[in-house]
Amino acid sequence: MTAAVIYVDDPELSVTASGALRIDGIGAADLAERFGTPLHVISETRLRRNYRRFRDAFAQRWPAPVAVYFAQKSNPSLALRSTLTQEGAGGDCLGANELRAALMAGADPARLVLNGNDKTDEALALAVACGARVNVDDLDEIDRLAAVAAEAGRTVEVGIRTKPDLEAFAARGSEMMDLTVRDYAAVSKWGLDPAAAAHAVEAIRARPELRLVGLHYHLGRHFSHPDLFALVVPGMAALVGLLRDRTGWTPEALTVGGGFTQGRDPFFRKPGPGEPWPQAADCFVAPIEAFADALCGELQQALRARDLPLPVLGLEPGRFITASAGLTLTRVGTIKQGPARRWVMVDVSVAQLGMSRSPRDAHAIVVADGSARDEAVTCDVVGPLCVLDVVMEQAPLPAVGRGSLLAVLDTGGYADGEASNANSIGRPAVVLVRDGAADLIRRRETFDDVFARDEIPARLLAAGEPPPWPIGP
Ligand code: PLP
Repeated sequence: MTAAVIYVDDPELSVTASGALRIDGIGAADLAERFGTPLHVISETRLRRNYRRFRDAFAQRWPAPVAVYFAQKSNPSLALRSTLTQEGAGGDCLGANELRAALMAGADPARLVLNGNDKTDEALALAVACGARVNVDDLDEIDRLAAVAAEAGRTVEVGIRTKPDLEAFAARGSEMMDLTVRDYAAVSKWGLDPAAAAHAVEAIRARPELRLVGLHYHLGRHFSHPDLFALVVPGMAALVGLLRDRTGWTPEALTVGGGFTQGRDPFFRKPGPGEPWPQAADCFVAPIEAFADALCGELQQALRARDLPLPVLGLEPGRFITASAGLTLTRVGTIKQGPARRWVMVDVSVAQLGMSRSPRDAHAIVVADGSARDEAVTCDVVGPLCVLDVVMEQAPLPAVGRGSLLAVLDTGGYADGEASNANSIGRPAVVLVRDGAADLIRRRETFDDVFARDEIPARLLAAGEPPPWPIGP
């Protein structure tokens, strides 16, 4: 019997009367038994729902067409990309491999954009060959791209990655670094400042192989409030106006990047001393419709005030679509009690959760197999790595024992994609679940996988018998 859903906006997560977690119609304990742990689990239903909700939020508020480019970096699985292809999503691809992967997963090349600084010749050639748009990030890329297109005898759609002046952020600090958002944008490597963007417009329009369609901008996440997008607008609209005045050109498409979040949003959420650790029922972020209101309202007004036409609105959501669709199952091993701390040791590491890159992440953790006893005990949940490897720090967890199953929530974005083989540990398997069925979409890495790139030069090999002890996956 299933009890009521207790998690924020998560109809795909439910808990049985005995406390067992079910994900998209299948028991967490069954999944762990069948596929082992640690295990990334993605709810296909939630993934599709996130995409539709995002698309509709903007499509209902922007009077011109909206183009959603799924940011593949947030979860590079081919099966996820295939699911979103079925939904009609375009794609934001950084580099040749993301572009190739999107094509392998059936994405429509006309809905793909190639982003990134210092793009390789290989990436440019692939984009030209398949018909993806290229957002150029430097003036020299224009000549390189035109040469590739001329050689292929093709015309390529081009956008310009810009760096508008973000005066509106002059006093606004980033939650992610000790800089104002404006200063962060100024020192970041991406995009062309307004003067360089005007040169780019002219240089692109002078090349018959290139068709200039739009402007691109991605600020990234600095705080999870809809203001983030409203404050980008003045700089962006000023830039569009400046380009029109200097060159006579106005963009058919304006892409404002990603950075949209929802629900428990674990990124940079680590609480300060004495503050509570995120819980499953928490919600830190305004609904996406509020982000869409802020962005669409301000942008329309600012463009209309300058008598500029409304372009196609491009959006590149990553974490909004993937993060809440995923969780990671992990088993408890040793529980160690010291004088100052209690450590609940689990088989997943921060390196497998993408947390090694941003140690300020904080994911809610729940007991997934009904093995929780009533009383909660303050503990650190730690993984096996040779660094502190703290998955949850000084927060209450219902008392569990060796073999208990935990679920780290909201790991669908930037966990598997940014995982490493720290301490030579293989990355977890990934399963896609939907309506009670589960498919393996990435197998667990074996010892052989981890060392597949290695060679020992013959001169270093000890001659003689193979070692007597077992070496295997
Ligand atoms: N677009 C670009 C150009 C990016 O670099 C990124 C992330 O780095 C994204 C979109 C996706 O960001 P998010 O996952 O925060 O939505």
